[in-house]
Amino acid sequence: MENYSILEDYSVNWSQKLGTGINGPVRPCTKLSTGERFALKVLLDKPKSQTEVNLHVQCSGHANIVTVYDVYANDVQFPGEEYPRPRLLMVMELMDGGELFDRISQKRGFTEKQAAMYARQIAFGIQRCHMLNIAHRDIKPENLLLKDNSEDSPVKLTDFGFAKVDDGNLVTPHYTPYYVSPQVLEAQRQQRREQRGIIPTTTQYTYDKSCDMWSLGVVLYIMMCGYPPFYSETPSKTITKDMKRRIMAGEYEFPSDEWNIISRQAKDIIKGLLCVVASERMNIEEFLSHPWLQLSTTLPNMQLHSPSLLLDKNSFEAAKEAHSRHLTELRLPETKLTLKPLAIVDNPIMRKRRIQNNESLDNRHLV
Ligand code: ADP
Repeated sequence: MENYSILEDYSVNWSQKLGTGINGPVRPCTKLSTGERFALKVLLDKPKSQTEVNLHVQCSGHANIVTVYDVYANDVQFPGEEYPRPRLLMVMELMDGGELFDRISQKRGFTEKQAAMYARQIAFGIQRCHMLNIAHRDIKPENLLLKDNSEDSPVKLTDFGFAKVDDGNLVTPHYTPYYVSPQVLEAQRQQRREQRGIIPTTTQYTYDKSCDMWSLGVVLYIMMCGYPPFYSETPSKTITKDMKRRIMAGEYEFPSDEWNIISRQAKDIIKGLLCVVASERMNIEEFLSHPWLQLSTTLPNMQLHSPSLLLDKNSFEAAKEAHSRHLTELRLPETKLTLKPLAIVDNPIMRKRRIQNNESLDNRHLV
């Protein structure tokens, strides 16, 4: 991390946007010494952003993860702001090819073989994260970018804004037992087995990593047919009750109009990912050794329906939005897992409980 001004090393095009996310625009910049172009993401310097940068840097250096080259901690003042604010400026490799699904929608003949090739690359990116015990937790079409406009451009994973270290040590004595999810108990069990040498580290299976596998299933499903597995009868940008029910029940189909040309192995791998019970869901190693990815040279050469269906921007935007919302829900258990120790919790219920338990007047005074 550099503390001197980024402008000593790069010229930044502040008025151009490569794309915009929740943190604002990502802009192009040029390295002064070489003339090479990069992408610049600017984040307010807060603990959450520091985690993002830190985890992205850790995963960087893999062919299917967007590389982070430099990070600067500078005070930056944007138009409309009264004073400069501490910011982190992340210089990343420039992904000139846009989002993966935009590319697929422009393809004339997109086959299962090509889909398997993309799926393998996305999975390699996820494998890199999971091997470092990092769960990405925001696997979605917007975060899958292409390096350039060539036919064989690699696809890379970006945006570690929700990434989290997932080392299996999810349960500490601090947690209130009522809230411990089955996934966490499963993680503990796996950890104990691992400590006894029963399973190797790569198959370690905890909640957050399995969330990435679910998302991979949704991405893969859309890539094959052009619409999402879980949708509501009434098109909606938000996640409806009906959709939630379908997701919880794992209720989705392979409608024959689009899926009858698709191989059994492809459906099988998707079923392994879209498995409601997290502990039974396929992990990244199982995914990568599945026959669908092993046999990709013999997969059907039929043209998939996804390119034309992805062209319907309205329904695709609604699908993306709904997937994002579902991801938010998948990340929710974290709130329960990070509960403070009961002794330091200070909320109305606990206050009442303490009073009922005849706690000292001093304590009552404190709350
Ligand atoms: P946020 O965390 O604010 O949502 P992202 O990292 O997802 O930001 O980036 C927002 C958008 O900026 C992406 O969807 C993409 O269109 C564009 N973008 C991000 N990184 C790059 C990059 N390295 N090269 C080119 N465009 C990028």
